[in-house]
Amino acid sequence: MRHIAVVGSGPAGYYTAEAAQKKFGDAVRVDIIDRLPVPYGLIRFGVAPDHQSIKGVHKRYEAVNLSDNVRFVGNVAVGRDVSIEELGQFYDAVVLATGAPADRALGIAGDDLPGVIGSAAFVGWYNGHPDFAGLNPDLSGPGAVIVGNGNVALDVARILAKTRPEFEGSDIVGHALDTLQASGIKRITLLGRRGPHQIAMTPKELGELGHLARGTPVVDPADLPPSADDALLEPGIRKSVAHLRDFAAAYGPARDIAIEFDFFAMPVAVEGDGRAERIIVEKTRLDADLRAIGTGERYILPCHLVIACIGYQTPPIHGVPYEHGRGRFANVDGRILPGLYCVGWARRGPSGTIGTNRPDGFAIIDLIAEDLPFPTGKPGRPALDALLEGRGIDVVTFRDWQKIDAAEIARARSGAPREKFVVVDEMMAARDLSN
Ligand code: NAP
Repeated sequence: MRHIAVVGSGPAGYYTAEAAQKKFGDAVRVDIIDRLPVPYGLIRFGVAPDHQSIKGVHKRYEAVNLSDNVRFVGNVAVGRDVSIEELGQFYDAVVLATGAPADRALGIAGDDLPGVIGSAAFVGWYNGHPDFAGLNPDLSGPGAVIVGNGNVALDVARILAKTRPEFEGSDIVGHALDTLQASGIKRITLLGRRGPHQIAMTPKELGELGHLARGTPVVDPADLPPSADDALLEPGIRKSVAHLRDFAAAYGPARDIAIEFDFFAMPVAVEGDGRAERIIVEKTRLDADLRAIGTGERYILPCHLVIACIGYQTPPIHGVPYEHGRGRFANVDGRILPGLYCVGWARRGPSGTIGTNRPDGFAIIDLIAEDLPFPTGKPGRPALDALLEGRGIDVVTFRDWQKIDAAEIARARSGAPREKFVVVDEMMAARDLSN
């Protein structure tokens, strides 16, 4: 028997477990360990609440869990309740699939002022992540600035602009829905430090901005390069730029909320009296390597809210080599140390779609099979269970999660698939209530 511990129950973790099942069949036991009592990581806490079809992939992960040789071990924090060294003693292979759930700092003056938040915190807030449920962002408006031109920036702009009826069918948490409904934001500025041809937005997601009830995407036609230049673009980006051209063609006064694209615009400082009141922006130009270079020309955007959507990083774990510049575990193709691997965003950084993690999971299991052609005789599950019991850790099983899941579904507001518990104690209480 082979024993594999996967740390993290998001997409990368589940695809790794699925790959292990396919590769080793009945001759493997996989434990998927998560620090929260609820599974699915990015699917639950990262994917936008109004993108329910993407969230539907959890059904596939559920099927993996319901098989005999995979287990969910929730409410167990690696590094706190059990160490990496201990996992290494119990399992043939330990795979870190911890994602990249931490914000990167903007690294400019004033980025620590109240009112400046990262996308992990803001997205976590509207998705009900226990770490961020109490964020209580100031949406009094009228100006909000989003830094970054990626898909997360689009998610955040769309969520800020939507009306309550537009959240019909979503699982946005009640506290966020109420705060958004009372929002005074009238202008959302998307700051891109490079130009329209350098955006990291995918066509479907960008196109959605054109179909909002009260939000109008605003692109100044003068900011777009000659349309003939679009032919040089990779097809996906070309389609996205076509949306920018459509928005520019409709250039004019916005409806209730303007979502303004400000290109070649680099934030240099956030200022205010004890909180964010304005952001100082410098115009840029691109150098020969398409990097943004400041031109010295600066202007001020008044704003009470700055959300940095500039990518994420993997939190370090004690004892695991870490690549600080890139915010991920130090690894070669997923190998960290003998018996210790990483996969998904924890391996390659926050890029690609959910589906990108599937080949990643299969590749890491191939490496494990290559490195450890024979099981090492380690004890696996019973050793972990004994250790956690000895430490008084209240482990949440997949069956327990199903009880929490049922309780969330039962308390959903009308038209919503669920109302999430946003506090760990509430999740545990929901499990205990139905015991
Ligand atoms: P991203 O795609 O890497 O975009 C980050 C953006 O931030 C880029 O425009 C980048 O500009 C900018 N940026 C980085 N550092 C900056 C700085 N210091 N100052 C100003 N701007 C800065 O990251 P993301 O939007 O967080 O998305 C992460 C991954 O999740 C992506 O693969 C994304 O496609 C995926 N995702 C997908 C969906 C979906 O499919 N619906 C939704 C959300 C996220 P430069 O290009 O100049 O570096």
